[in-house]
Order: sequence, then structure tokens, then C-alpha cells
Amino acid sequence: MRLSQYFIPTLRETPKEAQIVSHRLMLRAGMIQQSSAGIYSWLPLGLKVMRKIEQIVREEQNRAGAIEVLMPTIQPAELWQESGRYDDYGLEMLRIKDRHDRDMLFGPTNEEQITDIFRSHVKSYRALPLNLYHIQWKFRDEVRPRFGIMRGREFLMKDAYSFAIDAEAARIEYNKMFVSYLLTFKRLGLTAIPMEADTGPIGGDMSHEFVILADTGESEVYCHKDWMNYSLDAGEVDYNADLQPIVDRFTELYAVTDEKYDAADCPVPAEKLMTTRGIEVGHIFYFGSKYSTPLGASVADETGKQCDVHMGSYGIGVSRLVGGIIEASHDDKGIIWPQSVAPFDAVVINLKPGNADCDKVSEQLYQQLLAAGHDVLLDDSTDSPGAKLNAMDLIGIPYQIVIGPRGMKDGIVEFKIRKTGASQDMSPDAAGQAVLEHLAGQDTI
Ligand code: ATP
Ligand code: MG
Repeated sequence: MRLSQYFIPTLRETPKEAQIVSHRLMLRAGMIQQSSAGIYSWLPLGLKVMRKIEQIVREEQNRAGAIEVLMPTIQPAELWQESGRYDDYGLEMLRIKDRHDRDMLFGPTNEEQITDIFRSHVKSYRALPLNLYHIQWKFRDEVRPRFGIMRGREFLMKDAYSFAIDAEAARIEYNKMFVSYLLTFKRLGLTAIPMEADTGPIGGDMSHEFVILADTGESEVYCHKDWMNYSLDAGEVDYNADLQPIVDRFTELYAVTDEKYDAADCPVPAEKLMTTRGIEVGHIFYFGSKYSTPLGASVADETGKQCDVHMGSYGIGVSRLVGGIIEASHDDKGIIWPQSVAPFDAVVINLKPGNADCDKVSEQLYQQLLAAGHDVLLDDSTDSPGAKLNAMDLIGIPYQIVIGPRGMKDGIVEFKIRKTGASQDMSPDAAGQAVLEHLAGQDTI
């Protein structure tokens, strides 16, 4: 992509309304624009990152055996009246009337809708277990929308729903999602800690929140310091095998949100306890027959007896993750994207468009990286060299090749790594090669 033909409306000034770093950087990098409180337009750079996150989430859901569907954003009130949640949900639900005076709503979540799909089609235990998910916009009329897209009113969520014949089978489905969340967040360059959580209005009795640590997080969290050394490799996971040992390994260390914390019975000695703040990026629940019973989602078991199915639901805040990743990975110059979600793989910065040598070498490198299948930005804008370099550090593309008239006299360009700040002068060929090698290494930070 040529920057001169693209749209990245960066801001030089720090917007006053933004209280946390991810919100400031998203506005300054031209990723989003507020439409009204808690509702945002996604500009090209923001959209690109969000789509990459969405795709990683999708691949990991598919790998764990979940099946993608797409349910509507607008739902009929009747379904929520059947489950009893229409009144309970309160002011967070955006209620709408259509032209026939029918009560509709903009979905804050989809338990009722998915249970309706399930009960219409599945009648036998043989079709179980089943896990259906979608990635769809939600609306919750939050009391205090804030921190940009981190606590929006309209936001993109991946929500999966599992159906199983009994509690034991439901646990197996829960474990698959638990493990797939560990792998998903790792691919996004994040350490997300599963914490025992309250189940809130969704209800149920087994639940974990996946929390990334950040000073600006909304919840206070308490966890064992050794958590920071825990990591799961994709190679260790076989979704057809018993995942309980992995889940046990990742739940044996203490980690709870403030709702569950009680100083009196905290098992971790003070010197091993980390008290910090966190951002909830995912939440998984097992809630048995909370929805299947009122909505009549039952199947015949092996003996022909009707059983209400045991369900779980599993959310990931896809749009919130854009901000969460920035909170976890930035410096005073701007964003540092993990390669897996970077809006571009590399940028070729031509400091002096119009200079024949700079133009020629920039174009060659740009074409070479494109031909290798990479998503490359060519900064061919006519801003001052300083402004260009600052803007590229701000938007945080992992690898930069800087081409300027001075270096060109000696046939030299500069290769830079955004994450470490390392930079090296080299020939254009060597710089192209260096970018290719780093990209092939698939560094995740
Ligand atoms: P929170 O405790 O942050 O209000 P929640 O428990 O209401 O979240 P869930 O119903 O578990 O959220 O939703 C699943 C995921 O959707 C959350 O883990 C979070 O990442 C994301 N999410 C929830 N509310 C918002 C919001 N207002 N803006 C952006 N993302 C959200
Ligand atoms: Mg929650």
C-alpha cells in the first residue's frame, strides 16, 4: 500500500479526552474515530488490526472444534421473555420497537438466540457435543462507557456456546475452550491469566475470566508471581485427548479478581502475591441448564429419556483486544505491534520522494517485499523526514527500512526493528533480506 493513496489520519496533538495510553495512541495513530459515547468508527489501520485479531480468534476456535455461524444483531424480545432475562437485564439493554410495534432489542449476548437454534434442530444425544460460535457486534448501554473501545457501548465479541448431554461432557467442552483461550492470547502476544470469577448476570457455577495485566485495567487482581513464567505451547495440545491436566496446571496457581479475593483465606504468602490491575479480555462460563430448561432445549439420551442440555458460553472481546494489546505493548514513541496482528508487516520509508535514487531503491524494496507475499506500506508521503519517522514509530509497524538521500550517496539504507529500537546501516539488498528473515522467524513479542 502506498501511503500517498491510503488513509491514516494521524494526530500530532494528544487528544485531551483520552485517559489511558491505548485510547490516546489509537486516536493519534488514526485507528478509530468516536461517533457518540462508546460508539466508534474503525478507520483503515484500526480495522486491519481488528480483522487480524478476529482471524486468529477464529482459527483457534475452529482448531478446538467450534463451528462458526452468524446470528443477527437485532433479536426479538420474546426469546428473552422466555428465559426471564428481558426484565432482568435492565438499562444495559437497548430496546427497540419496529414499525409494527413489536419489541426488539440490539443483542448484548446470544444465549437465548443460540438455544433457539439448537432446540429447533437437535433432538438426540447423538448430535452432541456441539459448540457454535459467531463473531458479531454487541450493544450494551454501559453506565460509563470509557477508555475508547475498551469499554464501548457497541463492541465486537466472539461468543461460543457449547451443548453437552451432562455435566461431565460439558466439562470437556469447557476445558477445550479454556485451553484454546490460552493459545489464542499467546498468538496475540499476550499473557492472559485465567482467574476464578463471579458469574454475574449470565449465571452458572464454573467460570474463569482471562485477564491481561496492565496498570490501567479496570479490575483489581491478585495472583501468584510465578504466573509470569507459565506458558502453553500449541504442540502440547491435542483436543481429542483429556485436557484436564493442562487446565489443572493453569488453575493450580492462585489468581482471582477482587470479587473473589479474601485476604483472610488467600493461600499465597505475601512475598509471592502480586496485587495489580488487569483487563478482562475473555470470559468463560459453565451454567448447566440455566437456559435449556426455560427454553425447552432437551434431547433424548441413550435410553430415550429427555434431558435438558448442559451449556456453556465463552466470550472474547475482539475489539477490546485492540486496546489491550496496545496497553501491553507500547513505548513513549507509540505502539509496538506483535507481528501477528501488525497492520502491515513492514514499512519502506522514502525520506525524499522526488529524489531519483531514493525513489528507485524504495520502489525496488517495496516490490520485492510485496512479491514475497508480505503486506507492506510504502511511505511515499511528502511530509518532513522527522514527521515521517515519528508517524511510523507511532503506528508501530514491526520492521522499517529508511531510505534517505545521504545514505543513497554511499548506497546505504537503514534497517530498524520497532520493538528493540535496534537499527543498522546496510545495502538495500541486505535490508530487504533482513526484513524477510525476521518475518519468516514470526517473532511474537
Ligand atoms: P466486564 O466485566 O468488562 O463488563 P462482562 O463480564 O460484562 O465484561 P462478558 O459478558 O463476559 O463481559 O463478555 C465477554 C467479553 O466481551 C469480555 O471478556 C470483554 O472482553 C468483552 N466486553 C464486555 N463488555 C465490553 C464492553 N463494554 N466493551 C468492550 N468489550 C467488552
Ligand atoms: Mg465478565
